[in-house]
Amino acid sequence: KTFPVRHSLLERWRQQPMRKVRALSDVNLDVRKGETLGIVGESGCGKSTLARCLVRLYEADSGSVSYQGQDVLALRGAHLRDYNRRVQMIFQDPFSSLNPRMTVRQVLREVLSVHRMRPKDQLDARVRELLELVGLPAEAAQRYPHEFSGGQRQRIGIARALALEPECLIADELVSALDVSVQAQVVNLLLELQERLKLTVLFVAHDLRLVRHLSHRVAVMYLGRVVEVATTDALFEQPLHPYTQALLAAAPDLDPQQRVTTPALQGELPSPLHVPSGCPFRTRCPHAFDRCATERPDLTPTSSEQTVACHLYTHPPEHPVRGASAEP
Ligand code: SF4
Ligand code: MG
Repeated sequence: KTFPVRHSLLERWRQQPMRKVRALSDVNLDVRKGETLGIVGESGCGKSTLARCLVRLYEADSGSVSYQGQDVLALRGAHLRDYNRRVQMIFQDPFSSLNPRMTVRQVLREVLSVHRMRPKDQLDARVRELLELVGLPAEAAQRYPHEFSGGQRQRIGIARALALEPECLIADELVSALDVSVQAQVVNLLLELQERLKLTVLFVAHDLRLVRHLSHRVAVMYLGRVVEVATTDALFEQPLHPYTQALLAAAPDLDPQQRVTTPALQGELPSPLHVPSGCPFRTRCPHAFDRCATERPDLTPTSSEQTVACHLYTHPPEHPVRGASAEP
């Protein structure tokens, strides 16, 4: 079963509150039940905006989001609260939003009782269960946020999200602030929980290595658009979009055997206020040809596993272009 999520959104750009930019458009994505969908792209590409729109932290002013057939953007009151319980977002540092004077036990009990997840006499048992689920000792319940390391805090953030028994977790740069060794532990925990609790996970990150490790499928974003969606194997073995190829070529920590021999990203990321006409990637694309300046490429399936928004695959140029080595 799939849950279609469709967008074409206008949103105020946060750094420039007086100017409107189209922060997301042509974002056309399905998230399948029980899968981990990785969302990657350079910072500023709209990944976080997308994640926030999905949980209604930002209000999209056009487009649509649907979850199990429900129109998410139309949800109000109790229906919205129920959706927000079922689709939980976890942030880079969940403790920035927590009261430093509350112990972990108080935090988790509060979440459980506000949402009436358990009767009062079962709250402490559930707190213990949740801590165990995220690999923390029972004694952690008595401690305060500042007493934990970054990795432990993330575990508590995950426990807090799980307290609401969500079906879907949206993790935005969940481990970016952590040391590499700790990152692996938290990511493995997420992997384990996803399988055990049959969660649907949206893993938003700029680290391709982590995304590859966790995700069943990956969506690549550039300047607020989804430019390629593929199964993880297809994406890493045969990236189709020139931007995806450049991202992989630029990733220092991917297996060199798997690296694609493509020039790394050239030029600067254009400002979201001045998105190029036609293909948004054309100012940096080594394969750009005349059509790219005038026509926006649509996401088009090239196989059952891969979808790409690039004219090379739908309207290949008659004459090979400068720098175009990879024939589609
Ligand atoms: Fe490059 Fe043109 Fe494809 Fe855009 S549409 S990625 S500019 S070849
Ligand atoms: Mg972000």
